[in-house]
Amino acid sequence: MTDLKSLTFPELEQFVISIGFRKYRALQISQWIYKKLARTFDEMSNISKEGREKLKKKVKIYNLNLLKKELSRDGTAKYLFELEDGNRIESVFIPEKDRNTICVSTQVGCSVGCSFCLTGKSGFSRNLTTSEIVDQYITVQRDVGIENRISNVVFMGMGEPLLNFENVKKGIEILTDNRMLGLSTRKITVSTSGIIPGIKQMAKELPKIKLALSLHATTDETREKLIPLNKKYPIKSVMKELKNYPADNMRRIMIEYLIIEGINDSVEDAERLIKLIKNIPVKVNIIPFNEYPKSLFKRPSKEKIETFQKVLWDAGIATFVRDSRGQEISAACGMLQAKEKQTV
Ligand code: SAH
Ligand code: SF4
Repeated sequence: MTDLKSLTFPELEQFVISIGFRKYRALQISQWIYKKLARTFDEMSNISKEGREKLKKKVKIYNLNLLKKELSRDGTAKYLFELEDGNRIESVFIPEKDRNTICVSTQVGCSVGCSFCLTGKSGFSRNLTTSEIVDQYITVQRDVGIENRISNVVFMGMGEPLLNFENVKKGIEILTDNRMLGLSTRKITVSTSGIIPGIKQMAKELPKIKLALSLHATTDETREKLIPLNKKYPIKSVMKELKNYPADNMRRIMIEYLIIEGINDSVEDAERLIKLIKNIPVKVNIIPFNEYPKSLFKRPSKEKIETFQKVLWDAGIATFVRDSRGQEISAACGMLQAKEKQTV
């Protein structure tokens, strides 16, 4: 059966025509689903009962099953969803003064297997469908209320988005089409552990979307220990790809740097980082490691992180330390889902 929330607008138009409807019905249906956040065909009052019955036979509206919501004192909320096959995924809602952001998952588990990441430890089950990706946005938007519009989407939840490229791409098309969710392309960020073919594809097919690279280390030796995939896609070749990415000073690439005590937090690391990103329009986001019971790594002291940041600032690089919002509910990306599985 056709899955409505997996269709881009042109596909939706084709679909309505294929079942004998007039083309303008696509816009009506799209407005019910994406503007009014309808969950059933019965809500679509400008479509006749007969028409609605026909739709029900040909197409399904996939709605995620919300199992649990945890609210943090700072307003961050973590949502746990159950999929039709029983798998579970999570999303995080992060309200800020000037924007509301959702962090979405793209896979059940992750095959990259980074040594610091709880999602990676759980292995890989499957890719999410486009509707499972898009409905994280829709369900959370319904929950927080339409007056709190979610303006930003970061693909930084569970999974490696560039290993599920086609479904992520379609999801982004639905998120950014004005006839659908209508978000600005500048407010969507895809984070990758450095999948070179995926970065090339993004540059070609999604050139307006922001790219974030999880770099985390400045030598291949250290990066391999953190991200095993570095053996296949070493630092130099990934940085070369970033140079080719259509970014500029208005739309910089985000370098994510997970900072871990004694592993990658020295002044020498900061200096090597400066060399690596020279001539690439970037901003750097330092992410202090979020510890969890039995984790192999530790978060560096505040002073150590500040020193690291200062070295970069002094070299003229815009560098921020990502504050860990929603910490008491383990809402940090990479910590998702683990609690439910009791690996924490
Ligand atoms: N797979 C993609 C996107 C999802 S992971 C990627 O790796 O970029 C999103 C971010 O969460 C990554 O930058 C990752 O390094 C970070 N992360 C994972 N585990 C973490 C932890 N324990 N503490 C802090 N950040 C973590
Ligand atoms: Fe996968 Fe990203 Fe976690 Fe690495 S950090 S295991 S790429 S989700």
